Amino acid sequence: MNLHEIVSKALEAVREKRVKLYVFRPSNRKLWIVVGRHGYYMVLPDSGYCTCSDFFFRVISGEKPTCYHLAAVKKAREEKTYSIIEKEDRQYRKIINGSLKERGSSE
Ligand SMILES: [Zn+2]
Repeated sequence: MNLHEIVSKALEAVREKRVKLYVFRPSNRKLWIVVGRHGYYMVLPDSGYCTCSDFFFRVISGEKPTCYHLAAVKKAREEKTYSIIEKEDRQYRKIINGSLKERGSSE
C-alpha cells in the first residue's frame, strides 16, 4: 500500500464517519478510535501511535510511513468531522482491552 492508497483509505474512513472521539466522564479523558472492518483501533495522534497490526508490523519497521487510521484521525481533526461519543469512566478499560485484542488485519 503506497501513501496515495493510505490517504484515500483515510479519507474514506473520515467520510464514512468511522473516526470517533470517545470522551469519558467525569474524568474528561479522551480516546481516538477508528472503526475498521475487523474491529476498532485506538489511535494516539499526538504520539503517532495506533494499535492496528499494520502499525505494529509495518510502520514501526519503516516499511510504511503511517497507517490509514492515524491519517484518518489527523484528517478528521483538521476538518472536525469526527463523532463524539460520551462514555462513563468505568467503560474505559473495557474499550482499551477490546482494542488491544485486535491484532488481525486492519482492512
Ligand atoms: Zn492503524
